[in-house]
Amino acid sequence: MKISSDFDGGNIEVIEAENPSNIRLHIHKDNKSDFFQWFYFRMTGAKGQLCALSIEDVENAAYPQGWENYQAVASYDRKNWFRVSTVYKDGSLVIHHVPETDCVYYAYFAPYSMERHHDLIARCAADEKVALHTIGETLDGQDMDLLTIGTPKNQQGEDKKVIWYIARQHPGETMAEWFMEGMLERLLDDNDPVSRTLLDKCVFYAVPNMNPDGSRRGHLRTNAAGVNLNRVWEDPDFSSEPEVAYVRGKMDETGIDLVLDVHGDEALPYNFIACFEGIPDIDESQLDLAYEFMDQLARISPDFQTEVGYPKSAPGKANLTMATNQLAHRYNAVSMTLEMPFKDTEKTPYPETGWSPDRSAKLGKASLDALLAVLPRL
Ligand SMILES: [Zn+2]
Repeated sequence: MKISSDFDGGNIEVIEAENPSNIRLHIHKDNKSDFFQWFYFRMTGAKGQLCALSIEDVENAAYPQGWENYQAVASYDRKNWFRVSTVYKDGSLVIHHVPETDCVYYAYFAPYSMERHHDLIARCAADEKVALHTIGETLDGQDMDLLTIGTPKNQQGEDKKVIWYIARQHPGETMAEWFMEGMLERLLDDNDPVSRTLLDKCVFYAVPNMNPDGSRRGHLRTNAAGVNLNRVWEDPDFSSEPEVAYVRGKMDETGIDLVLDVHGDEALPYNFIACFEGIPDIDESQLDLAYEFMDQLARISPDFQTEVGYPKSAPGKANLTMATNQLAHRYNAVSMTLEMPFKDTEKTPYPETGWSPDRSAKLGKASLDALLAVLPRL
């Protein structure tokens, strides 16, 4: 038997893998960083054997509370991901599984590879409503892809509302790109009246992957230089966080009416949105509109809720290095961080898959209904 992770998004270090009942593993830290939590690896040659895969030292991971009531995902074909028996004890995460084939993959959440990202971008770019701009390069030399959907002006020559969606600043939060895939698929569907109406009145700018380097390197939270991109929006530096510098530069050109920054949360078993309560000179009407968006999304999708989320910043205490706060402050935008669980939703659980790519994509589609509902006030 063998365990390996030298592929797009892979991350594991093998301590010992001689005996299926005592496989010892370790997660690599993000490059130049202490963050770790994302794992993704392949096990071959263990068909029909009861395997105990112990990922050690995970109590020192970025979010140890993420391991409580958590089940890892596995796949034989890298398309269908299902949950496997997982326990967190004595600082280790232990997966018990009998692989049905000689080739099985395990991961923290269903991976979204850079190869799939390129498929998504190519598919979108083939649509006549879409313009693709590579707005810059990452430190590893990958393209920063920006999709523009629709035109900035309507047929009367008036400016449309400017909507931005960005996702996966934290590369291990792969559900964020699954969400984007669903949202984009619906937005480009000419037979969908919600999408057609939105595109009459809005232009969309979408960055499905803010962190290609972290994604390909198998990072949890940072880019190639070990930078947490969601802490550099106040004054991004091209030499260490070009991803944010390029995207914010483009935002300065377009302005923003509403922006959604899509993430995953390791610990909380809920979908929720965090807003921008603590920014200086807050525009309460914009905050009300964000709350209205949340209420509408909760009404449209039972998977979403508004009761549980992050604590709100006190007045004037918002961290302006975070995208949502900085963008609300900089553009007087309705600015929201959408978080999805790694685990499952508390009130609408589906234990077979837990929170999943498909459910993420459906929430992405539902976000367009919520957007249409708030559009008259935007
Ligand atoms: Zn995040």
